[in-house]
Amino acid sequence: MRFVVFGREPRVDTPRRRAEFSERLRWPVIERVYQRPPIHPMPVIKPSCVRDLKLRVNLADVISRVVTLRKAGGTRLKGLCPFHNEKTPSFHVDADKGYYKCFGCGKAGDAITFVRDTEQLNFTEAVEALGKRFGIVIEFEEGSGGPTTAERSLRQEIFDLHDVAAEHFHQALKAKDATGEFFQDYWTTKRRFAAEIADEFKIGAADAHGSGLGPALLRRKFSEEALRRCGLFFIYDDAPITLGALRPRFRGRLMIPIRDHQGRVVAFTARQTELTPSDDPAREAKYVNSPETPIFTKGNLLFNLDRARTSVGDGKPFVLVEGQLDAIRCWSVGLKTAIAPQGTSITEGQLVLLRRYHAQVECFFDRDTAGQKASLRFLPLALKAGLEVRFLTLAGSGKLDPDLLFLERGLAGYDEVRRDAQSAMQFACHSVLPDPAGASAEMRSRAAQTVFEIITSAESEVTRSAFVTEAATHLRLGALAAAKDFEALVARQSRQAAARPLPANDAESASGPGTPDGGQKSKSAQLVHTPERDLLMLCLHFEALGKPLSHAVPPDWVDREHPAGALLNRFLGEFEQDAWPGRDHLDGLLENAEERTLVATLLFENPAIEDPNKVAQEGLKQLRARALEPRMRQIELALANPHADIEADPISLLKERDKLQRQLRTPLVLAAGV
Ligand SMILES: [Zn+2]
Repeated sequence: MRFVVFGREPRVDTPRRRAEFSERLRWPVIERVYQRPPIHPMPVIKPSCVRDLKLRVNLADVISRVVTLRKAGGTRLKGLCPFHNEKTPSFHVDADKGYYKCFGCGKAGDAITFVRDTEQLNFTEAVEALGKRFGIVIEFEEGSGGPTTAERSLRQEIFDLHDVAAEHFHQALKAKDATGEFFQDYWTTKRRFAAEIADEFKIGAADAHGSGLGPALLRRKFSEEALRRCGLFFIYDDAPITLGALRPRFRGRLMIPIRDHQGRVVAFTARQTELTPSDDPAREAKYVNSPETPIFTKGNLLFNLDRARTSVGDGKPFVLVEGQLDAIRCWSVGLKTAIAPQGTSITEGQLVLLRRYHAQVECFFDRDTAGQKASLRFLPLALKAGLEVRFLTLAGSGKLDPDLLFLERGLAGYDEVRRDAQSAMQFACHSVLPDPAGASAEMRSRAAQTVFEIITSAESEVTRSAFVTEAATHLRLGALAAAKDFEALVARQSRQAAARPLPANDAESASGPGTPDGGQKSKSAQLVHTPERDLLMLCLHFEALGKPLSHAVPPDWVDREHPAGALLNRFLGEFEQDAWPGRDHLDGLLENAEERTLVATLLFENPAIEDPNKVAQEGLKQLRARALEPRMRQIELALANPHADIEADPISLLKERDKLQRQLRTPLVLAAGV
């Protein structure tokens, strides 16, 4: 099995590793535990080099890649905080001093922490990324290893791999062979794009066999883990990585690189063509996307945002179109602010990301039913994110396709649809009730309810009341009556929310002290009191207990369904392997925002624990009882009803009961490291 390679003698194939490994086969999620080889020491960057880097890096440059900054008096700049959702800027940057601080959520730090937190890198990776960006050579302490292929983070490696893949596909499209000629013709004749646009977006081609990519990546010596996790291949779990094992996901398709908001290629969208082979598992799908990988989450990504965000500004709002090729079409006619959702539906995460750069969005979807439905779904999410929305439509035309419009009329087509743009309320009212003049009072009142429900997504009272007034006009309702109806709806909604029985978690979070931001769900998850949470707390505040705990807690006692349990198992795995990085260097072990928030919350808590050993014993006892007692009761029930048709024979049941009793009676000792 693979993990053996990274283990240490003699505790290589431990039960925890085995359990986690079989878990991973079922849930192939990010698990950095396996990619850190504990045999090599982590490379240590020279402190002098870090000091030098901080002096030479311009913090404003670093931050303005992510946040649009404006002058805020003196040497200060400010913008919308990237760490919490806000509508007025409270994120301040002092470029001279090299520090930033958000007065909304309290996040503060320097260039390195900023890169670490916004790009999800660990300290070493963040320093390396900054060094690369500003042309500063990073020096490592002698003997500490320095970055070799094996030690680079998996994420960084998958980024690099995508760069190589994008270049590979692009060269295949430009090649003077049959495949290249087919795709060049497809691009220029069928899609009617200029060849330069293919260069600009690095559009590529996967040939009918998808054969070239595997060898190209193997030549570059990417790690086995990166090849397995990059999403570009189907690989059987236990197959050794050979050329034959790399079965390409994309064959005979036009390859569109997907970049994150910082311009890094993180995935591909692949368009079906005549060359798509008949045995492609997704043969019928027009577009196939990369699966989610350590560097790609669909819900947090908007196509072309990396370019569009530098072009938005006064009078130049974002233009949201349906597909990637629509966005490329807009770009090709000089409309540089177009973006497209990644995947089929727009998510709150995408819009919050958008709001960070500019508040105005023009929604320009196809005029067919699907496009209209998508627009209506988009509106409440946009209002919630605090976006100002307008809808572009072309009066009189039947089926309006942005691609065709811009292809035929260029930028003039954009000016044309803008003249007929609808406000959010115009669009919503018209979609819900196309002919208010011919509608009965009852129909108009019903339509108003639907529109009002959309309006409740907006947070600002001023916005809400302006919307209600406007909607009343469009739906031909009295302004006063509409306002009353809206208030009644809001009151009804809050009554319903109050009457709904809160799940246990929410009840706690409602009474507990909340952080200014962060989702309700994750907040409540952190406050639930479980033995897992207690032990996690001990791992963080009494690190010496980690190793003994790792021997005392079998992985299957832990409830991995919840973040605290998943983290506990991961942390104990690190302790067991002597690979615990220390509580200040946990970035590499945390897989998602929920886990990061949970750990931050636990670190900030000041536990008044007098006897950590006792707390550990108590937690262990609870875990053990929870794991063993239900089975104990089951057995006793079966023994008490010998004639009921229940499972095994009494003798083996008795044996099992004795074993369980012994286990439950065994004193729980926390032995020092084995
Ligand atoms: Zn903030």
